[in-house]
Amino acid sequence: MQYFMVPLSQHRLPKLPYPYNALEPVISTGLLQIHHSQHHKSYVDGLNKAELKLAEARQKRDYSLVKHWEREIAFHGSGHILHSIYWTSMAPVGNRWKTPGAQTLKFIIDYFGSLIAFQEQFSEAAINVEGSGWTLLVWQPGWGRLEILTIEKHQDFFQAGSIPLLVMDVWEHAYYLDYQSKRKDYVRSWWQIINWGVVEKRLSLAMQGQMPLVIV
Ligand code: MN
Repeated sequence: MQYFMVPLSQHRLPKLPYPYNALEPVISTGLLQIHHSQHHKSYVDGLNKAELKLAEARQKRDYSLVKHWEREIAFHGSGHILHSIYWTSMAPVGNRWKTPGAQTLKFIIDYFGSLIAFQEQFSEAAINVEGSGWTLLVWQPGWGRLEILTIEKHQDFFQAGSIPLLVMDVWEHAYYLDYQSKRKDYVRSWWQIINWGVVEKRLSLAMQGQMPLVIV
């Protein structure tokens, strides 16, 4: 199997696969621009910095701040990965699969019973995340099936080995400019911009143990 390795401290902010105005009216141009170019960028910068600091610690054999930098790579690393998958989870109307692909749909029905039941549980899970967090559809290779998971603190471990397929950001910065306190409205509108083609592709790759950050 071929592996792509990101060199130490060389993480880059991925380009969005669409322009900043492409998700209007569900997500406004201004919100998307800040979210991508500032919030996501700060995770990438934080991750690169933490990796560099840990490399310095190895070189100097000085691990006095190892707890701090381990927390930093978990926090910024998860933020970078989850945002990367969040961007590819969405696509402009007219340039996306409007319904799940055959394989995704089969696994959704096998476990959740129906697409409606899956969407209901996913939406309710997202609405009920306390404070900041995420809602994910994941492939769980250990069990050979899908799962819906929520994350409140993304630096904490969630479910070992699971591979995110569809990621929704429910941090306030992801919707507040457009929806203020109405997270429900953001969650419900969000279904209009899901790119099911990418979910299908991610599922096939996840079943081979792969989780690319960028999907082309
Ligand atoms: Mn975010």
